[in-house]
Amino acid sequence: MKKALSVLLVILIVFSLCSCGKSYSHKMGNDAVAVVQEMKKIKSDLKSDCSATKYTMDMMLDVIDDVVEGTVKVDIVNNSEKPLKVLCFRLYSAEISGSEITYAENAKTKKEYTLSTKNLPSVYYIILGDDEVEAGGKISVTLEFKTIVPRNNDRFGYYECDKGKLYNLSFCFPQLAFLEDGVWFEEPYNGYGENLINEMSDYYVKFKAPKNYKIVSSGKIISDRSQTIIEAKNVREFALTACSFAKIKTTESGGITYNIMMPMYEEAKEKYLTEYYNVLLTTAMESVEIFSKTFGEYIYDELDIVPVFYDGAIGGMEYPGLIQVSMPWSDGSQPAKESMSCDSSVVTTCHEVGHQWFYCAVGNNEATEPWLDEGFTSYLEKYFFTKAKKTIKAGDKFNKKYSDNEGLLYTSSFVEDAVSKDYINFPADDYEMEDYGTLVYENGSEFLRALENTMGEKAFIKMLSKWYKANTNQIVTGAEFIKFVLKHDSSEEVVEIINDYISDEAI
Ligand SMILES: [Zn+2]
Repeated sequence: MKKALSVLLVILIVFSLCSCGKSYSHKMGNDAVAVVQEMKKIKSDLKSDCSATKYTMDMMLDVIDDVVEGTVKVDIVNNSEKPLKVLCFRLYSAEISGSEITYAENAKTKKEYTLSTKNLPSVYYIILGDDEVEAGGKISVTLEFKTIVPRNNDRFGYYECDKGKLYNLSFCFPQLAFLEDGVWFEEPYNGYGENLINEMSDYYVKFKAPKNYKIVSSGKIISDRSQTIIEAKNVREFALTACSFAKIKTTESGGITYNIMMPMYEEAKEKYLTEYYNVLLTTAMESVEIFSKTFGEYIYDELDIVPVFYDGAIGGMEYPGLIQVSMPWSDGSQPAKESMSCDSSVVTTCHEVGHQWFYCAVGNNEATEPWLDEGFTSYLEKYFFTKAKKTIKAGDKFNKKYSDNEGLLYTSSFVEDAVSKDYINFPADDYEMEDYGTLVYENGSEFLRALENTMGEKAFIKMLSKWYKANTNQIVTGAEFIKFVLKHDSSEEVVEIINDYISDEAI
């Protein structure tokens, strides 16, 4: 996720005025390096004890009642050494709107299972009874679900204007929870960040919506006749956008297909919007180009870009093969704003594309170690602006034409000396909301930049691309990364940087 820029600037100002007394502040004698070196066994390549290898979904969007409902068959493997008596599913949208899993059965025998929820509406348990799955065994379950889509300008919800509706469908499909050491992952939905940990799975989706709705999604649309059929392989989750007032522009470069949804929002003229979207497309394409060349190849061959409205402090959101980017004015009810520059959306676009590397390809537990995707992606975002050419040119041209700005004014750059070196590696919930962006995102990227400055650009990039390639499709941990860095460079300077930014308590 990317914070809205205006909010982030306020956070930075507030942060610089007050010194923080939280546990993530610097403390004397912090020695994360020693803690990592003394660890007997470093958790690496986390795997769930229970994997969903395939989701087969059949669902429809009712645009009168704003409901998505259907079935999902989930093929599951018990990777643990114990029999599996219960399954846990998550339906995050149940914490936002009236969503529920209404029914569960064995996909083969059609035997109905008891469903229950406990602490959170988004956590569902399926009691398998006599169908317990032995160690290494498999089971397929079919769930029925119903999701009420709220009118909400957010990552999940629909936007409506006189021209029609745009449905952002994310966080609203049932997903098998991660199982580690006998404990199901039951973190609540996080409205200002992400609390997810998911292995890679394949999705095969049949989606029905009225004919006038254009669709983009994770994966690829393989058929679009009476219903849309989508294949999304090797993804950590599935997201889809359906819009009744959009065109889709498709282009190809370097073997990758780019689709940008072009909703013709009533707040601005078609020409302004089309040119705005073209800048985002250029940014997305150049981001993929630069990141692929520098850190390792993009893992998919398609990328979809969806310009959306958000009411809150969010600037954009990442999903596998699909990114949402907020339009420059956050509230769609405002009058025409054709003097708005494209700066914030350009920064957000390259940030969300960066997450395709760190979050999608290299996964992590976003609740306990958010720096591993947000810090890394913020580094990529800033790195992008040290190399970008086409984006700067397109942004300059757009801003000169439509705004009072001389060009693309706000890109995104390294501070080189972080606002504060307070620790970046605490769980998301341990940070005060106003510190989260500054420390996890900004200091997270400054940590990597400090390593780059010390190790030298060439050696650092080589190390980071090795890290990316070695951990694509895996789930990494912070201790694993620190060990990896030390293997490449254990000089005094590098040790000092690690101990400056990484808390030994949270490693
Ligand atoms: Zn992010």
